Amino acid sequence: MNSDQEHYIQWQKKEEERWEALCGRCGACCGAFDKDPCVHLSRDELKKYYCTIYENCFGIKKTVNGNDIVCGSIRTILHSHWPGDDCCGYKKALKEKN
Ligand code: SF4
Ligand code: SF4
Repeated sequence: MNSDQEHYIQWQKKEEERWEALCGRCGACCGAFDKDPCVHLSRDELKKYYCTIYENCFGIKKTVNGNDIVCGSIRTILHSHWPGDDCCGYKKALKEKN
């Protein structure tokens, strides 16, 4: 691997970390604010939400009440609205940019 490729991989890694860090783990996009969250939504000791199947989360999942919930990239829903979305770090970043 030459130095250009190494720099590119490092840049990619930093960009991914920067993007991931925008998530405040409020759980809103997984149903935390509408009383019927995804069954894979959990909370850690700091009360922050996390996905128990994050690496393989995309697709149709079930909510705790047995309904379907479509899990996809946050990029695909940024221009829509969902309960509690005012706490979403990605939406805040998008708002600041525009
Ligand atoms: S599977 Fe998707 S919707 Fe369910 S908790 Fe994980 S990220 Fe959220
Ligand atoms: S609504 Fe936004 S900040 Fe909250 S968990 Fe989903 S992606 Fe993260």
